[in-house]
Amino acid sequence: MASSLPPALKRLGQNFLIDPNIIRKIVSLAALGPEDTVLEIGPGRGALTAGLCAEAGRVIAVEIDPQLQPHLQDSLGHCRNLDLRIGDALAFPFETLPLRTVVVANLPYYVSTPILFALLDARARLDRLVLMLQTEVALRLAAKPNSEDYGVLSVLTQEAAEVDLAFRVSANCFRPRPTVGSAVVHLRIKTQEGFEPVRHERFRRLVRASFAHRRKTLVNSLRDEGYPPEQIARATAEAGVPPQARAEMLTLDDYRTLARAFDRDSV
Ligand code: SAM
Repeated sequence: MASSLPPALKRLGQNFLIDPNIIRKIVSLAALGPEDTVLEIGPGRGALTAGLCAEAGRVIAVEIDPQLQPHLQDSLGHCRNLDLRIGDALAFPFETLPLRTVVVANLPYYVSTPILFALLDARARLDRLVLMLQTEVALRLAAKPNSEDYGVLSVLTQEAAEVDLAFRVSANCFRPRPTVGSAVVHLRIKTQEGFEPVRHERFRRLVRASFAHRRKTLVNSLRDEGYPPEQIARATAEAGVPPQARAEMLTLDDYRTLARAFDRDSV
């Protein structure tokens, strides 16, 4: 006998997809084949999971809510390639994933940014990600310099991946309906050649410090965040960053050049 469904928990971001067209569009965007392992974060009631299991070689689905387990086991019992794990995605051992894993998720919005950063940290194991996000976050991921949405999330995501805003999704496609708009993004992880964790940590610190005081110039922002003035002066001059520049004016390449100029002081 099928297990009855527990009510959706708002605190866990449980807005379940009910529109088969959107589910098909997400699965098709992931372009899966039998050679692919998929990591799904938050399978919920399994709306997407069944489609992923039909296309991929293996699906690892991590769900935090143990109440959903009996339903998932009942409804997806026929999916021999499903590996269901009950636990917090933030504690998932990403290093155990096979190389070139594909992430597909309708993310819980309350924790989407920490999960996104955890996934970007695990990028060496990943090939591409198809993520449903709050529209506002999706726009920030894809934003270009000199726009209101451009910030830390844009630079750090675009440093790791090519970002495409794929399509928007109406609130009517979920039960319960979310109070915010939703959009699906496609991230293709960039080559990992030359990736050095220590340098990357310094890059991340620099980008965060640059945007820490949006109304100030980049130079003042970095100074307020504890970078020594003489180092700022030398590195910005070397990187060709004008003294009046603000964080949102710099491209990803500008940040890379600036980080390399700071690195020369740190090694
Ligand atoms: N994939 C399903 C769908 O599209 O209908 C459910 C998506 S729902 C927006 C988000 C899911 O993530 C919920 O099932 C929720 O319980 C789960 N979740 C919330 N926080 C989580 C976490 N930290 N780790 C893993 N799953 C989480």
